[in-house]
Amino acid sequence: MDKFNVRKVAVLGAGVMGAQIAAHLVNVKVPVVLFDLSAKDGPKNGIVTKALDGLRKLRPSPIGVADDVALIQPANYDEHLGLLTQCDLVIEAIAERMDWKLDLYKKIAPHVAPHAILASNTSGLSITQLSQALPAEMKPRFCGIHFFNPPRYMALVELIPTPTTKPECSTGSGLRDHRASARRGAPGHANFIANRVGIAGMLATMVEAEVQPRPTWSTTSPAEAQPRQLGTFRTADVVGLDTMAHVIKTMQDNLRGDPFYPHSRRPRCSPR
Ligand code: NAD
Repeated sequence: MDKFNVRKVAVLGAGVMGAQIAAHLVNVKVPVVLFDLSAKDGPKNGIVTKALDGLRKLRPSPIGVADDVALIQPANYDEHLGLLTQCDLVIEAIAERMDWKLDLYKKIAPHVAPHAILASNTSGLSITQLSQALPAEMKPRFCGIHFFNPPRYMALVELIPTPTTKPECSTGSGLRDHRASARRGAPGHANFIANRVGIAGMLATMVEAEVQPRPTWSTTSPAEAQPRQLGTFRTADVVGLDTMAHVIKTMQDNLRGDPFYPHSRRPRCSPR
């Protein structure tokens, strides 16, 4: 496991994150099989091919060399589960719903190669709870790999083990230190580290904006910001409001006693 060689990756989910994670992998010339649900109309890979078209248009570009999109092979769960056996790493990036992720794990488990690592890109669902759907032999090879949006530009990845993850599986070279800090704060904790602080901070800013709209808006969303400088409101748009809502719900369900948990404030004065 020290020299774990990732020759091919499967990414499950061709949405905002899955498609860009696939792009990020082909930027380092690792071929990807990108899965999504079968399209209801037209070709079954329609959702994925539409996502690939989106990658070519997205700015800032998630792709270094435009032709490398060809290294991403479209797939769907009805026809192509057999392709999973060729992959050394499987990254799940479907919608932020525990029940949907658990259903998918049950479906894919028989097809994942015995040596492969399976990881979830969840923003904050319990990695340990997610592992419950897996057969015992897969649990040591399951962990969280939490990329941030947009993955090509955000130089941060959280690696989250469960109590049964083999240490080697959630330790990437160069990420060892980060994992060490994640281990202290994250396993079993909703929203891990970054979203535990970040989402609470975003909500606190939104609450403050009701009280002091002008200074809050102007200091949190600079018009010409680069991806890593985006302010609160633009970041919420880039993440997707539906995904934001899921992550906020995870916080509400699990973190009410947390020191970072934001509390609503009565406006001190009426907005002008
Ligand atoms: P998205 O809504 O853009 O895409 C989700 C994908 O899941 C869609 O392509 C959809 O077809 C597929 N899907 C929906 N229901 C499904 C099901 N029952 N079975 C299989 N596939 C299904 O979501 P996203 O923003 O890409 O988020 C994906 C994951 O990444 C989530 O866990 C999210 O919390 C996490 N994440 C998101 C961001 C972000 O900024 N959006 C950042 C970090 C992590």
